[in-house]
Amino acid sequence: SAPSGSPLLSQLNETQAQAADHFTGPALVIAGAGSGKTRTLIYRIAHLTQHYGVHPGEILAVTFTNKAAAEMRERASHLVPGANELWMSTFHSAGVRILRAYGEHIGLRRGFVIYDDDDQSDLLKEIMGSIPGIGPDTTPRTLRGILDRAKSNLLTPDDLARSGDPYISGLPREVAAEMYRRYEARKRGQNAIDFGDLITETVRLFREVPGVLDKVQNRARFIHVDEYQDTNKAQYELTRLLASRDRNLLVVGDPDQSIYKFRGADIQNILDFQKDYPDAKVYMLEHNYRSSASVLKIANKLIENNTERLDKTLKPVKAEGAPVAFHRATDHRAEGDFVAGWITRLHGEGRPLTEMAVLYRTNAQSRVIEESLRRGGIAAKIVGGVGFYDRREIRDILAYARLAINPADDVALRRIIGRPRRGIGDTALEKLMGWAREHRTTLLEACARAVEDNIIDRGAQKPVEFAALMGAMSEAAENYEPAPFFRFVIETSGYLDLLRQEGQEGQVRMENLDELVNAAEEWSRENEGGVHDFLDDAALLSSVDDMRTKKENRDVPEEAVTLMTLHNAKGLEFPVVFIVGTEEGLLPSRGALTEGPGAIEEERRLFYVGITRAMERLFLTAAENRMQFGKTNAAEDSRFLEEIGGEFDTIDAYGQNVEYRAKSWKTYRPTVPAAGAGYSSPVKNTSPLTADMAYRGGEKVSHPKFGEGQVLAVSGLGERQEVTVHFPSAGTKKLLVKFANLSKA
Ligand code: ATP
Ligand code: MG
Repeated sequence: SAPSGSPLLSQLNETQAQAADHFTGPALVIAGAGSGKTRTLIYRIAHLTQHYGVHPGEILAVTFTNKAAAEMRERASHLVPGANELWMSTFHSAGVRILRAYGEHIGLRRGFVIYDDDDQSDLLKEIMGSIPGIGPDTTPRTLRGILDRAKSNLLTPDDLARSGDPYISGLPREVAAEMYRRYEARKRGQNAIDFGDLITETVRLFREVPGVLDKVQNRARFIHVDEYQDTNKAQYELTRLLASRDRNLLVVGDPDQSIYKFRGADIQNILDFQKDYPDAKVYMLEHNYRSSASVLKIANKLIENNTERLDKTLKPVKAEGAPVAFHRATDHRAEGDFVAGWITRLHGEGRPLTEMAVLYRTNAQSRVIEESLRRGGIAAKIVGGVGFYDRREIRDILAYARLAINPADDVALRRIIGRPRRGIGDTALEKLMGWAREHRTTLLEACARAVEDNIIDRGAQKPVEFAALMGAMSEAAENYEPAPFFRFVIETSGYLDLLRQEGQEGQVRMENLDELVNAAEEWSRENEGGVHDFLDDAALLSSVDDMRTKKENRDVPEEAVTLMTLHNAKGLEFPVVFIVGTEEGLLPSRGALTEGPGAIEEERRLFYVGITRAMERLFLTAAENRMQFGKTNAAEDSRFLEEIGGEFDTIDAYGQNVEYRAKSWKTYRPTVPAAGAGYSSPVKNTSPLTADMAYRGGEKVSHPKFGEGQVLAVSGLGERQEVTVHFPSAGTKKLLVKFANLSKA
């Protein structure tokens, strides 16, 4: 049993303490959501250092998102002396770090760059035209999917050619293999690697160069993996190799929260752990410390509908709490307003905005929610979505930086050679590319030799000037810190002048570039290293996840509601959670509906993840009509609601309990306002929303100055409620109700 008297372990329950006291050898902590897996992992690390005398510099902990890694670092800093020596990172950042240090052993040249999704697409667009068998209706996105899955599963082009299925994502396997082969060759020629490579190349490095593996193992004698259920084959192999010498591997996970199958995650990795490590100690945690009993009841009831699962118990520690609420809104806007209304109310009752989160299935859903919140005067920060580092101007300047560091990066060159325009047209570029190919050299080299080698007929001086500019930038990249370097690039590239000509929009882009310089400055305060290291971090941030929010939301006050996808919410917790869009076609997703039972089970797990983020209050919403892909269609309740039916209260827009009728709403006449009518119903005092909802469309009102008029539209909530009124004497006016001094006529 657990050592008694340890002040650290006394903050855990008995089984958690046993797991945290696990010293050497393999161990598996397998348990449901909110049972303290991550807490146990962190306490185990602290206990290793304090009780067993393990040096923090020998401990590795891997998580899935930068946000989770940052949170883990923060929590460990309070518990572990010398915590800054702990190696806590995502799989991808661990890969970058290892490849930067030792990549030369497998032929990666110094200065290699990391291609993100867009770069990958650019490169694919370049090569796909010339691959027989790839037709015009194949998109780069499809090809990226093929590459991504192949890499997740550690498959080579040859493996693809031999795969069991004659077709891969609709392409004959030989064609897919050939595409993969050419893509790899081109990418290597440009001294670049992609996200998948961060893991697969590290695996290759470990396999081919045992000396390197040994060195890295010294830095990772005790290995921890959180969210182990979401590891794919490549990550699994990376972990296995790392742990193969000392065998001190502790993994924690919950098979019911496996939500990355579409990216190659294999639930079997956690289920097979005991097969891989027959001597593994297994710890099962059975108490949920996070959620109220009513939230947990719904979670348990939902997940029982999955057939492919390991049965486990999860008992609440907390009391019943407030009932879970479900609301069906007339449309997506009314749904957003409902959420905003409740947030306003709860905030008014003293609940900080930071304690509330709105979760959705797809990024596209965030816009409407955001708008409702904005109208309600509620600050919101979005995690994920189109991020700061995805913006055109930012990507352009980063491309300059990449080319400055890696002259072989043709993708970067092609991106920026016309931004701003330098009088190098498409024909000239074609010629330069042809010459580079023929002479097996880089595009930049071709630019430099344009005059000397007579590569283009007219204006050959232009590419030469461009090459000279890049030479100056390369020098700057060597000698400057990131922030002054970016200032240099923005100035000398002529980009600033380009933006000056773009008017209003250019102004915004300029501000974003300022922000990039700020980000670089901030980065230098927190990190060692040069331009190169900054680029690595930026590349990681713009991918899989989420920390980019920090820059993106700079204008958002600290005190804000969090908006994010269900995927991004993994591992997090909030006192109040809204899950919007619980409809067929969203949750479960449209894709899952056509794919079949396995895909539905994954969606169910995703919903389970969402529900179990809630500590005290959970709101589920759906819309009767929803705009998707530019069209408004009738929506149907999620089948998952039926599965948990009876365990939640259904409330109307005023917070009144109404009867839930599964899916039969088409024949059910709602007592809530019809779409477009605004908040028109009689005012009830119990409503969270009605206090300020005194006006409705069509109503006659009177204004002290404009006289009598008719309300055309009502928008916003609370303090921010606005009415659009037509006054025969003064025209149409938009007025803030709070100040308008209106009265009913
Ligand atoms: P998930 O599956 O969602 O990742 P988890 O199993 O990792 O959840 P944690 O995040 O570690 O769960 O813990 C959930 C919450 O319960 C946290 O707020 C944590 O501090 C709290 N908690 C866990 N165990 C205990 C305990 N023994 N005493 C008090 N609080 C606890
Ligand atoms: Mg966790």
